[in-house]
Amino acid sequence: MQPLSGHVMVVYTGVFDPVHLGHVDIIRRGSRLVERLVVGVGENPEKTPFFTLDERVRLLKEVTAAIPNVEVQPFSGLAVRFVRSLGARVMLRGIRTTSDMEYEFTMSLTNRTLDPEIETVFLMASEAYSHLSGTFLRQIAVLGADLDKFVPAQVIAALQARAKEQRK
Ligand code: ADP
Repeated sequence: MQPLSGHVMVVYTGVFDPVHLGHVDIIRRGSRLVERLVVGVGENPEKTPFFTLDERVRLLKEVTAAIPNVEVQPFSGLAVRFVRSLGARVMLRGIRTTSDMEYEFTMSLTNRTLDPEIETVFLMASEAYSHLSGTFLRQIAVLGADLDKFVPAQVIAALQARAKEQRK
């Protein structure tokens, strides 16, 4: 599929702690709509992450290596500033449920207040992945669940190892 003309670059921002199949689905679908999709990996100042920023970036790079127009970059601070620093105008986010909707709506309005020239566009989660969330993923990993239905193959070993450390 040819990218839509005029839609040069979008920036998909998130914490990705760690990247799971729901994120990958949004990345794949988003990458088909634009020439270049940058995955921006940020920090959540309110939470200590399961994986460090470097680890999250590395996992995302491995998982997206086969998609030629996707690149992964870490950022700190405000997402809108990161988007602007790339010369982009469009942020991409995924929405799973109506509760996400409220959160994402508030965040997009906050971001628009911070930088009125940057728009957020949303893709609805695919049915198969709409139940996936980082919080539950980390919980079931610590409890020893099989992870292959939740995360890409490249993430399984890293997540199992980190979960094992957390059980100690
Ligand atoms: P954040 O903590 O900033 O919400 P996440 O890494 O959890 O970051 O998610 C990044 C983006 O991916 C968000 O827009 C989120 O709604 C979306 N997302 C998370 N899980 C899924 C999923 N299962 N399907 C589709 N989109 C998702």
